Amino acid sequence: MVCPACGFYGYELIKSKGKNNRELLVKCEECGHVYHETAPEEAYEITVRVIISEFEHSWKTDVTLYSDEYLETGTLLYIDDKDVEVTSIENSSGNRVFECPVVDIKTIWAKSLDTLARIGLSIDNQGNVISHKIEVEREFIVSIGDVGEVNGLKFRVYGIKTLERNMKKGFAYAKVIKRIYGKLLSSKDKSKVKYDLSEYVVKTTSKEKRYN
Ligand SMILES: [Zn+2]
Repeated sequence: MVCPACGFYGYELIKSKGKNNRELLVKCEECGHVYHETAPEEAYEITVRVIISEFEHSWKTDVTLYSDEYLETGTLLYIDDKDVEVTSIENSSGNRVFECPVVDIKTIWAKSLDTLARIGLSIDNQGNVISHKIEVEREFIVSIGDVGEVNGLKFRVYGIKTLERNMKKGFAYAKVIKRIYGKLLSSKDKSKVKYDLSEYVVKTTSKEKRYN
């Protein structure tokens, strides 16, 4: 609040009354002028419904925001121990909006950023390719030459397709990998298995490889 006499902001509270004690009588700390003022409304917490999606799953939860805030799509929130990004906001009129005062939000839609990397794993058995979709930690490292196992079959990684290139040597983090190419190893192969991906498989398909 600003003193009407001198424009100074500092004040001393003399007394307060009214609803929520928001009607104030104050004394200017600069010039001593005494004036009435209405206290600004305090921000209060609002619990807002959120629907978080993670791959094809989604769940309902809620988040606590403040009444004096705005929320816009693209905002990152931390909910249920996950980093999520607001993808859509429904206001109290039932419209989808890009930004909205928190007091006017009906539902927030968000996607989890805390997801696993979903990558393809193709294992070539002399032309018959078994393809898996696997979900692993984003920081999981795959190197060319790695010997892995999936559903009891051993394979050696010979190629990695990342978002940007096809690799024939080196390593990559799962978060940038689109597909891992492996060659099936015979059951007699004595190579030590570095990782077993069986429990990370979300889908498996098998088909004859087509040569163009
Ligand atoms: Zn004053």
